[in-house]
Amino acid sequence: MKFRLSALLLGFVLLFACQSKPKLSITKEAWGTTDNKEVSLYTLTNANGMVVKITNFGGIITKILVPDRNGKIEDIVLGFDSLKQYTKEEYQKACPYFGALIGRYGNRIEKGKFKLDGVEYTLATNNAPNHLHGGNKGFDKVVWDAAELSGPDSVGLALTYLSMDMEEGYPGKLTSKVTYVLTNNNELKLYYQAETDKPTIINLTHHSYFNLSACKEDILSHELTIFADSITPVDSTLIPTGAIASVKGTPFDFTTSHKIGERISEVKGGYDHNFKLKREGAGLSLACQVSDSASGRIMEVLTTEPGIQFYSGNFLNGSLTNSNGAVLKQHYGLCLEAQHYPDSPNRPNFPSVVLKPGEKYAQLTVYKFSTK
Ligand code: BGC
Repeated sequence: MKFRLSALLLGFVLLFACQSKPKLSITKEAWGTTDNKEVSLYTLTNANGMVVKITNFGGIITKILVPDRNGKIEDIVLGFDSLKQYTKEEYQKACPYFGALIGRYGNRIEKGKFKLDGVEYTLATNNAPNHLHGGNKGFDKVVWDAAELSGPDSVGLALTYLSMDMEEGYPGKLTSKVTYVLTNNNELKLYYQAETDKPTIINLTHHSYFNLSACKEDILSHELTIFADSITPVDSTLIPTGAIASVKGTPFDFTTSHKIGERISEVKGGYDHNFKLKREGAGLSLACQVSDSASGRIMEVLTTEPGIQFYSGNFLNGSLTNSNGAVLKQHYGLCLEAQHYPDSPNRPNFPSVVLKPGEKYAQLTVYKFSTK
């Protein structure tokens, strides 16, 4: 009798343990409409309970939930719980691009002008006097087509968008596909692909603001390493001067780990700079590592891109409230945007961003989470 009782108890314990273990899954929920198109929110969960929420409006990642060193799972990106918060005018005017997919061109193009094959193109100067992140209605504000993916050790979401010839002033009909993959190794992989029917320029990136403390404090005590020996210095309008400057002996030297707040007061306006990555060959290489000693969370960024824009959330001013209730004051999030350098179309000495018909644009960036 005693034996049967304990066997029964063990059975219940096992049943409970099996049920509470997170399962690799992707689910979809209706999230409203915009531009007369239905928008959905997708929840990707891995076997460790890591969760990534993505909407096909602007390819925005609204949440990334990862464990701290004690297994506590919290949201480590800035974002909102409803579509309206992303589409309302007030938010779009503040233009922080929380979690968004950026295209056709990540970062700035000087005075919104560039020449390609002898023809001058004019883009919106939506960040006067320059063009920023694809213009007035960039890839962050359009509805993408979505397809769910699942494999034995990962789940994913493939987003595609067809941008018409001269949309936002860019030449060529461009088909873009961005595939988000969450693996059981706590990696979030972003594969970007594109093709065009006329010569054009392209520089896609992702704009999550990370705060590994889950917004318990700002990011100034986060420790950062960037595997870069030089930056592309900028003028007062944040346009590269064309120089490639060594970081040695400057507050931009993150070749060894430093607290972000340690030297930020020496950088006018805070960090908002493109780092030229040290890399060997064209493959995936480690670009940076950021950690928060209080929670123990670590994030590594690996990329195939030549640069990374480190932006320390300088323009956050407390006017927005995060989905977890935190008031988003200056430096409450940091962006690490893997991309080609800003203003490359006007800088022949920078790696080219030209895409021609028949060529395939491809970039891969991986965000890998762990704890210490
Ligand atoms: C840019 C910043 C800009 C921010 C939000 C970053 O990628 O480098 O200058 O303020 O995006 O728009």
